[in-house]
Amino acid sequence: MLNKLLIANRGEIALRILRAAKELKIPTVAVYSEADKDLMHVKMADESICIGPSNSALSYMNIPAIISAMELSGADGVHPGYGFLSENPDFAEKVEKSGFEFVGPKASVIRMMGNKVSAKKFALDSGLPIVPGSDGAVSNNPHEQADKLGYPIIIKAASGGGGRGMRVVHAKEDLEHSIELTQQEAGAAFGDSTVYMEKFLLTPRHIEVQVLADKHNNVLHLGDRDCSMQRRHQKVIEEAPAFGIPEDERKDIFDKCISACKELNYVSAGTFEFLYEDGNFYFIEMNTRIQVEHPVTESVTGLDLVKLQLRIARGEELKIKQDDVVIQGHAIECRINAENSDTFMPSPGKVIDYHAPGGIGVRIDSHLYNDYVVPPHYDSLIAKVICRANDREDARARLERALEEMYVSGIDTNLDMHRKLIKDPNFIEGGVDINYLENKFKEEKHV
Ligand code: ADP
Repeated sequence: MLNKLLIANRGEIALRILRAAKELKIPTVAVYSEADKDLMHVKMADESICIGPSNSALSYMNIPAIISAMELSGADGVHPGYGFLSENPDFAEKVEKSGFEFVGPKASVIRMMGNKVSAKKFALDSGLPIVPGSDGAVSNNPHEQADKLGYPIIIKAASGGGGRGMRVVHAKEDLEHSIELTQQEAGAAFGDSTVYMEKFLLTPRHIEVQVLADKHNNVLHLGDRDCSMQRRHQKVIEEAPAFGIPEDERKDIFDKCISACKELNYVSAGTFEFLYEDGNFYFIEMNTRIQVEHPVTESVTGLDLVKLQLRIARGEELKIKQDDVVIQGHAIECRINAENSDTFMPSPGKVIDYHAPGGIGVRIDSHLYNDYVVPPHYDSLIAKVICRANDREDARARLERALEEMYVSGIDTNLDMHRKLIKDPNFIEGGVDINYLENKFKEEKHV
C-alpha cells in the first residue's frame, strides 16, 4: 500500500507532505482548485489534477472529486493534512470503502473524537481529566446544569473547530439567548446545531500532548506543547516542550494519553488538547490529524512526524520505543499570516520580494516564492518560522533574529506583530495564559 500518494490539501502543509513522500520515494499526486495552479507543491508533484473552482466547498472539500482524482491517477493513499477533509469521518470512510489508505486513524475513531460531546464522554470513561460540564448536549433545563457548574460558563458547538462556535456566558439571564445563538451559528457553520456547556476556566494555559501509534499496538507520546498564545481561540505562537510543568504531572498526563490511545485503537499521529490551570489538566478535545504546530515537536525529538505517518499507513511497525524518544532543547514556532499586523484583515495579493531567514536552528515551512499570488479564498497562513536551540531563551533569541531577517513585500503580513511578541517580557518569562494576547491587544488600544 501507498505506492502513490494523493495530497488532499494546499499551501505549506501540502508541500510538507510532498517532501516527506519524496524522501520515502512515494510518487505524489497534487490536487488543486482553479485558484491554486501556481502552488509550489502542484509544480513539484509527479502529477497534478484540478478538482474544482476556488470555492473550497467545491474543490478541497469535494469528496467525490477527490475520490475520482485518486481513481484517475491510480493513487492508493491520501494524506488529508489539516483543515479541509482531515477530520471528516465521511471522507475517511469513503476512502476506506474504496479500498484506499487514509493517512490517519479509522473513520470510526475520527467520528467519535470529532464530536466533542462523544469525545469528552470517551475521555471521562478512559480516565482522562475533563473540564466539568454538561454530560452531553445541553438539556431542556440548561439553568439547572449551569447553576451547578457556576458562572462563567462556555457554550460550545459539539462539531465546532478552528476556534469557532463558542460563547462565554457570565450571567444567568444571558444563558438561554446565548445557547440559541450558538446553536444557530453551529448549525450554519458545521451542519450540526448540538451544543454543550463547560465551566469557563479563567486563566488556563493550552497544553497539548502529541501521540503516535502504529497498526501493531505500539503507542508513543512525543512530549507536550504549549499553545497558549492565542487570538480568537486560534494559536499564534507554539512551543515545545511546555514551559515549567512539573515532571510528575507531565508523566501522569502522558501515561493517561497513551492508555486512551490504546483503548481507542488509535493509529497515526494525534493530539490530546488540554487546558491547564493550578496544576490540573482538563481535556478539551482530540485532533485526529497532523497539526499546524507539529514542527516544534519534530525539532525537539528529531523525528519526522509526517514521514512516520506515511510509514505507519504503509503498515510498518514503529522502530522506536518510548525510551528512544528524547526531548532535546526547546523549539518555538510563529505562524506568519498574510494579514495586516494592526487590523488583522487578510492581505491577499502578489508577493514581490520574499526572503526567508536561515542559519543554524532555523526552519521555514512555507510555500511562498517571488511573484506567487496569495489567493483570497483560503486560510491566510503563508509561513511557519520555527527555531530550535538548547534552551528556551536561546530558541527565543534565535527566533527574534530570524524574524528580523525575514522579508516579505507586496502583501501585508503579521511579521511585525510577531517581532514585538517574541520580545514581550511576559513571553520571555514563559507560561502566559490563553487570555494574555487578547488582553495585551486591548490594553495597547487603550493607551
Ligand atoms: P477548537 O476545536 O475550535 O479549537 P477547543 O475546544 O480546542 O476548540 O478550544 C479552543 C480554545 O478555546 C482553547 O484553546 C481555549 O483557548 C478556549 N477554550 C475552550 N474551552 C474552554 C473552557 N472551558 N474554558 C476556557 N477557555 C476555553
